[in-house]
Amino acid sequence: MFTGQVALVTGGSRGIGRATALAFAGLGADIGFCHLDDGAKAEETAAEIRALGRRVVSEGLDVSDVAAGRGFAGRVAEALGAVDILFNNAGANIKKPFEEVTEDDYDRVVDVHLKGMFFMAQNVYRTMLPRKRGCIINVASQLGIKGGPQIAAYCAAKAGIAGFTRALAWEAAPVGIRVNAIAPGPIDTDLVRRNPEAWQEAFKARLPVGRFGTAEEIAATAVLLAGPHGGFYVGATLSPNGGDVMY
Ligand code: NAD
Repeated sequence: MFTGQVALVTGGSRGIGRATALAFAGLGADIGFCHLDDGAKAEETAAEIRALGRRVVSEGLDVSDVAAGRGFAGRVAEALGAVDILFNNAGANIKKPFEEVTEDDYDRVVDVHLKGMFFMAQNVYRTMLPRKRGCIINVASQLGIKGGPQIAAYCAAKAGIAGFTRALAWEAAPVGIRVNAIAPGPIDTDLVRRNPEAWQEAFKARLPVGRFGTAEEIAATAVLLAGPHGGFYVGATLSPNGGDVMY
């Protein structure tokens, strides 16, 4: 499905990014991915991509550093060719009561999610424009839709990503570039496993499906959006969430 294409995945060492990088590679794409201080897992993921017969570029960097992100996007294109698919996924969270959130906490969360995604999209978009094709997928969250306690900055950033996605989709679609978002519900990754076991079990029990999602289920949504059956999705926010938010 993606033979001859190049996918750039931010946050590709583990979790949703890793599953999506492997899904794209399994369908023929070469992969450039970045991570933050996660060298051992990044090497494992890169080895799996190579084992699928695909080329891979992997680098450690902070996507909130706009210049570092730009340099990385340039090196991926130089090594693998122009990027066809961007999976804009890198993210982390700081969980604390609203009254305790510092300016540094806010900047960290909003810069990684909103600023990092915004400028990585711009890096790739500029190279897609002359080619008049491409696909950008921004990873938001169902929490940006429904909210939640102790994650105000995260929810603000994730809601912002959905808004950014719709705005860019208006500019991009007429020139052949499709921009969409995925707003996952709770997915069984390190991000969620950091919460206490009792919290996780109570959350699962509240979900209509009674379980967390898998990273592979989110990767499948990315494959749909980037693949030949995704052509009519423009500015959409798809939310595979086990029924946590129904709309
Ligand atoms: P994870 O912690 O398993 O993986 C995060 C990945 O992002 C890692 O590769 C990490 O190295 C990278 N990363 C983190 N901060 C970075 C930075 N500043 N610069 C570059 N890379 C960075 O998390 P995950 O659950 O796979 O989350 C991936 C995305 O999905 C995030 O944007 C997260 O907000 C979103 N999301 C996750 C869930 C969930 O339940 N797991 C739900 C909704 C949305």
